[in-house]
Amino acid sequence: MFQVWVLGCSSATPAFGRHLSAQVVEHHQHLMLIDCGEGTQFQMNRYRLRLHRLDVVFVSHMHGDHVFGLPGLLTSLSMLGRNKPLHLVGPVGIKQWLESTFSASYSTLLYPIIYTELEPVDSPQQVYETSHLVVECFPLYHRVPCFGYRFAEKPKKRKLMIHLVRQANIPKEYFHLVKQGHSFYLEDNWIDAQQFLGAPDPSFSYAYCSDTRYAPEIVPFITDTTLLYHEATFLSTLQNNATATAHSTAAEAAQMALQANVAQLLIGHFSARYPDLKAHLAEAQQIFPATELAMEGKCYAIALNITSEPEDQAITDLPID
Ligand SMILES: [Zn+2]
Repeated sequence: MFQVWVLGCSSATPAFGRHLSAQVVEHHQHLMLIDCGEGTQFQMNRYRLRLHRLDVVFVSHMHGDHVFGLPGLLTSLSMLGRNKPLHLVGPVGIKQWLESTFSASYSTLLYPIIYTELEPVDSPQQVYETSHLVVECFPLYHRVPCFGYRFAEKPKKRKLMIHLVRQANIPKEYFHLVKQGHSFYLEDNWIDAQQFLGAPDPSFSYAYCSDTRYAPEIVPFITDTTLLYHEATFLSTLQNNATATAHSTAAEAAQMALQANVAQLLIGHFSARYPDLKAHLAEAQQIFPATELAMEGKCYAIALNITSEPEDQAITDLPID
């Protein structure tokens, strides 16, 4: 399972029921938080995303609408009895800010935070890894140091073609060897594992770009991403405001998606001046039709509907792992 929950899509201040920036990426059993605007822990509770399952928090930049939920969330984790470490990846200065907040509020955490503080970068750098996923940061261009994050699944294992191993009369107890790519003699027959392995499932990716001016220089870092989240604070009618504040318009977010050849685009981080977001969606879809609004409480799959060739389909009616 690879999906992203949107917990907030408002920029600067909450407006029209919209909360501030926060998203939870779920991959296998891992929950990873990106940004933590005020109220994020309430939103996690509301959408039943268990706080104690968080492994890591990624922070794009130090503006309050992206971090003011952190001290509360981190202290709640301690009160809920967490003792396993939490990874926190964010701009240089985040550690000092949090530690002075904890100190001034007489808060003590009963679990360690493992900080990865980021200096400004001009190309992607790996900042986190699980057994199935790699996370890179890359530069964004805002009024303060700012980072995007790209979550990419590692290549998957080739699938065991059950109908072929059955045809070859290979006993079940050898299936796991074949699946792991081990070839062997079975009595006098050479079993070449490669002949029984089909294509692996495709690997998918998610990129988070907020906050930033229109920045075509980052296109190479997000090319071919499955799902791109890009901020769309303004409509094109307020292009001057976007340029002056280093934010993007819906049209610019769509241009980024088009140039980067992504499969789908999610737009968010909407200015508090817009009660209705239909115009954002229309403006972006004119340029990049596969656009959706990042709506709170909605969970978006990070995947494509791909139909495999029949001969590549593994029949998975047996527990083979
Ligand atoms: Zn912001």
